[in-house]
Amino acid sequence: MELSRENYKSEIVRFRENFKTEAVDRATQALRLEKRGSVAALVFDAPDSKANTLGTPVMLRLFELLTQVEDDKALKSLVVLSTKPTIFIAGADISEIQTLSQGNPEALEALMTLQSVFTYLENMPIPTVAAIHGACLGGGMELSLACDYRMVSDDNSTRLGLPEVMLGVLPGWGGTQRMPRLIGLEASLDLILSGRQIDGRKAVKIGLADKKAPKELIEEKAIAWAEQLGAKGKKRSRDDVRRSTLEKVPGGKWIIFDQAKKQVLSKTKGNYPAPLKALEVIRRTYGGSISDGLKVEAKAFSELVVTPECANLIQVFYLNEGVKKDPGVDAAVKGGPVRSAAVVGAGVMGGGIAQLFAAKGVRVRMKDINWEAITQGYSTAYKLFEKRVKRKKMRTFELENAMARIEGTTEMTGFQNIDLVVEAVVESMEIKKKVFQQLDENTRPDAVLATNTSSLSVTEMASVVKDPKRVVGMHFFNPVDKMPLVEVIRAEHSSDEAVATVFQFAKKMGKTPIVVKDAPGFVVNRILGPYLNETIHLLIEGVDPVYMDKVMVKFGMPMGPCELIDEVGLDVASKVAKVLFGAFGERMKPPEFLDGIMEEKRLGKKSGKGIYLYEAGKSKSSNVDTEWLKRKGANPGSARMSSGDIQKRLVYVMVNEAARCLEEDLVRQVSDIDVGMIFGTGFAPFRGGLLRYADQVGADSIVNDLDLLSRTHGERFKPCDYLQKLAVNGQKFYGPEDKSH
Ligand code: NAD
Repeated sequence: MELSRENYKSEIVRFRENFKTEAVDRATQALRLEKRGSVAALVFDAPDSKANTLGTPVMLRLFELLTQVEDDKALKSLVVLSTKPTIFIAGADISEIQTLSQGNPEALEALMTLQSVFTYLENMPIPTVAAIHGACLGGGMELSLACDYRMVSDDNSTRLGLPEVMLGVLPGWGGTQRMPRLIGLEASLDLILSGRQIDGRKAVKIGLADKKAPKELIEEKAIAWAEQLGAKGKKRSRDDVRRSTLEKVPGGKWIIFDQAKKQVLSKTKGNYPAPLKALEVIRRTYGGSISDGLKVEAKAFSELVVTPECANLIQVFYLNEGVKKDPGVDAAVKGGPVRSAAVVGAGVMGGGIAQLFAAKGVRVRMKDINWEAITQGYSTAYKLFEKRVKRKKMRTFELENAMARIEGTTEMTGFQNIDLVVEAVVESMEIKKKVFQQLDENTRPDAVLATNTSSLSVTEMASVVKDPKRVVGMHFFNPVDKMPLVEVIRAEHSSDEAVATVFQFAKKMGKTPIVVKDAPGFVVNRILGPYLNETIHLLIEGVDPVYMDKVMVKFGMPMGPCELIDEVGLDVASKVAKVLFGAFGERMKPPEFLDGIMEEKRLGKKSGKGIYLYEAGKSKSSNVDTEWLKRKGANPGSARMSSGDIQKRLVYVMVNEAARCLEEDLVRQVSDIDVGMIFGTGFAPFRGGLLRYADQVGADSIVNDLDLLSRTHGERFKPCDYLQKLAVNGQKFYGPEDKSH
């Protein structure tokens, strides 16, 4: 049954009466009504914040203003605007979603009432326009969809999307209903199931927006457009759906649903319930009445919001927010500005780092020992930019401008103007020390000198610099353009200023940094070390690599551990393993299995052979190098081990090592370990991170299993003191005060 406009109006009013008035009163400042002739401008302008968000009070305020607009017969059309420089409306208030995720019986009712605010907007008797400049995401997108028309700015900050599945829920304020009814099934499933964001240009192309305007003119143009629409009283016909060719073919709809489901399953391995549920909601409701559809959507939302996946993904969201607010140091010092940078070493990492800096608008000098190497560095950067152009994320002239920001040199000329140098030469202490000596002589005394080393002591490198306070580590992960994490290494003498400069600069470069003390392997490679060693132990015991990889992908890792070893390179893995063995002794001892790989040129994917053989046209799973494994004493498939046992062995060794990192105070807070593992290795986000996961399992249970494993497999499984203490005291890694993060 369709609810009449009066019905749901009175429902919202009733809800409003029961809601805390002060909160709604406070929201009066977040949203105001301005009359521009016959046009009502609803202006979002959250006080003291860079972002507008939609919590219950703001939604109720919106409703109040809509009723005022409706009552004023002189107002013939409505425009929704934001005053923020890069944000239209960033989405719903996540803290409200988090409250719901902790289980709230009134959740469904509240959600449906707030849904009705957008239905009310949709059914305003006058034409409505959303003037979108900046991020228009989640609830903001749903608000725009409830308007008749959308105008977008052509600015890079304009992004549109429904990222709710990334938080473990689905769009619950009409997004699953109104988006498919506007842009058709194929395009909307693509956006809703992936949470992907698109820019203004693309939005116009797929019909999500109707018009585009320069950001400086969008307000003026939107008001003028609304005036014209108002004069004609022109509402949008909601039957005007932009269907794809496939959708128009008889039976095409079902093919689209089928393909979408396959894609979701292959991407998520069934670990993320939200996209599947969103798909199910759209499948059940597309083509039916919108008010029935909204009920199905709200019910599905209320089911998802209480899942552990949702709670964990919200925690990951807060991890990220925590990094955004973190200055990187505990003291009240500010980092210095980085207007120009240099990279020494134009190899795999140097080329990638130079490309990143240039992409973000920073001029960068790239130094290497000869022009051949520099050409290689240029080529690395160019290829990365070219990919962006091909994906329409960048225009050709932007590529040219960005490439012009990279200046190659074989000398230390021009280094006097540099604010930050990142050293990325070969991994040799001797060579790195020479480079630091040269940098000491050729840079300003206040320039920060950073090294991208993955295993060497930053403190030792800094010893050759007159003022070691200005030396830190800036450890990027490979490939630089894709991996979000940067470990900022605080060496023994690093100053707060230098750490803060690099930490804040990493964030400006779009990365997620954590500060780590200078210790072998820092944090991420150190925790990964035992994981990779254990993978080899399992191989030697006869576990099939394909099975092992499947088990860990199902656990939530982005790729299996055998595949990871091949990707990283057996040579690199073995080198890191040796460094860790040298530093931590017996428990990190690399299996002898890795001996001789250099002579055999068995370096993993890059040499065409590793645990797998990489032959064109053959799938990896059919290509285990069984003969080689047998020669090495492993007999793949000869051992039967449950997926649970494999996971325990591989994951608990990481938990144990992470506990040691905390024991040694290597990071400033527990959450840094989870940030490191999620953004540096892709550790299952839906589990909330390695230590969130460990907390869910419980330290006592992990210690029990480690004890058992150490009896059968040796000392390397022995639980460390920190972990044992948690188990004995019934404590968790995250204390109660960490709950909100
Ligand atoms: P690479 O071998 O690809 O590049 C090293 C470059 O340094 C070469 O172009 C070489 O010509 C140049 N070089 C050598 N001596 C130099 C000198 N004195 N002055 C200027 N340039 C010099 O190595 P890479 O993989 O890019 O690694 C570089 C650094 O980054 C190493 O410290 C490594 O441990 C670290 N790192 C590597 C990875 C990775 O996965 N490759 C990941 C993180 C960190």
